[in-house]
Amino acid sequence: MGLLGAPKNIENFVAGRFVQTGKTFTKHSPVDGTVVGRVHEAGQQLVDAAVRAARAALDGPWGASTVPERAGLLRRIADRIEARFEDLVKAEVADTGKPLTQARTLDVARAVTNFRAFADTIAAHGLDSFITELPDGRRALNYAVGKPLGVVAVIVPWNLPLLLLTWKVAPALACGNAVVVKPSEETPSSAAVLAEIMAEAGVPEGVYNVVHGFGPGSAGEFLTTHPGIDGVTFTGESATGSAIMRAVSPRVRPVSFELGGKNAALVFADADLDKAIDGLARSTFTNTGQVCLCTERIYVERPIFDDVVAGLSAAAQAHVPGHPEDAKTTMGPLISAGHREKVQSYLRLAEQEGAKVVTGGGVPLFGDARDHGAWIEPTLWTGLTNSDRTVREEVFGPVAAIMPFDSEEDAIRLANDTDYGLAAAVWTTNLERGHRVAQRMRVGLSWVNTWFLRDLRSPFGGVGLSGIGREGGTHSLHFYSQPTNVCVHL
Ligand code: NAD
Repeated sequence: MGLLGAPKNIENFVAGRFVQTGKTFTKHSPVDGTVVGRVHEAGQQLVDAAVRAARAALDGPWGASTVPERAGLLRRIADRIEARFEDLVKAEVADTGKPLTQARTLDVARAVTNFRAFADTIAAHGLDSFITELPDGRRALNYAVGKPLGVVAVIVPWNLPLLLLTWKVAPALACGNAVVVKPSEETPSSAAVLAEIMAEAGVPEGVYNVVHGFGPGSAGEFLTTHPGIDGVTFTGESATGSAIMRAVSPRVRPVSFELGGKNAALVFADADLDKAIDGLARSTFTNTGQVCLCTERIYVERPIFDDVVAGLSAAAQAHVPGHPEDAKTTMGPLISAGHREKVQSYLRLAEQEGAKVVTGGGVPLFGDARDHGAWIEPTLWTGLTNSDRTVREEVFGPVAAIMPFDSEEDAIRLANDTDYGLAAAVWTTNLERGHRVAQRMRVGLSWVNTWFLRDLRSPFGGVGLSGIGREGGTHSLHFYSQPTNVCVHL
């Protein structure tokens, strides 16, 4: 039975209590198709109860909590996550099949950091005040008071479930909100463990609620259309963001959207080739390509094109797919059979569009239970151009198209020729070029000679189809709080 243990009952968490419902769905492991758990799907009534519980918490002592109290609470949550670290690692790995080492060093480690970072941010945060002096001699003091947004719907995807959930819940609680969380149907487990942790840390009843289910016709839609929510923070596909925007539009609720990407890397001939290939390998294949920031378009200056193709192919072939607990494993499966079908449809499309498959293109065969999982080979293509759908649409797998360019202007034009705008990475040893090109990327995050290096105080988000708003440090506080300006005549 190994890591997964016996199938679990994964329950909703409403008003401080775990709640079963009459309706369950089955969550399968993408490693080998075994049953991870039975998830209790929330219906309209339970979503309503969760929203009411959140409102009641805001109307109670939580609504009058102070910043030092909330900063202290966030630190206690971080401490409890550390105490329950391995429980969360197991939950993440059971749902996603990702290597244990990654769950430990990235996913769960970042959950701890998220709560500590926002405890620091809220403790140091102040709002502007002004002395107003009008030409007619009137004077006034203007100052703003931060208030919580209110009941916040938190809807998250499956790729980095706990990391992305806590990236929203930590600042939401820091600002004094109450949340109703809807985890992905593919990754319900860690949000449920986090509910236990919240209770252990002393988070008041109703401040953190979890409802399980799907999007349309299920918990996701019931939550986003609920008249009692004050805003939606969402990470997921751009098309889902669009649907959520329609759902909240009748009541004009604010949204914070971190959506899809079709991110470019630009490799100049003056790049440090070893570092660039190492960086490209990470940016293309990390988490089996299932990170919104992953590179799916690689533009390479023509003189080093063949070297980059050869180097990155070798890196792809060196990946070891395997069991999460095996120390040799470097790549896990895709999240589900359904998602693999989507990725495979792009493997077929790329070939129809005339791609040359440099490496990969298929499904690895193990000759054991893993053949019932959702595995895919890391895949690289050449021969595609920006007019191909494979180069324009987000695949969200360990795949990239490698294409040549001839000049800096050419590279910038090609990289910016996309409806998305989340991230870009520029590889060059020319300092001026690095700054120059990074600044001209039409994205929210632009890296030079690195990828996925994050300071949690810096703005995170995208332009175009990649989202609305920024998260991180005080940028998150702007979404999760509503300032009231007070103007006092002097
Ligand atoms: P998804 O949009 O299918 O689902 C995300 C969440 O939304 C899930 O909880 C799902 O149940 C819910 N949902 C789906 N339809 C809904 C609806 N109509 N109303 C309310 N809720 C609904 O995304 P996914 O497949 O889980 O995640 C992969 C996507 O997330 C990729 O596009 C990826 O780029 C994106 N992503 C973006 C970022 C970022 O920071 N920009 C980070 C991670 C993932």
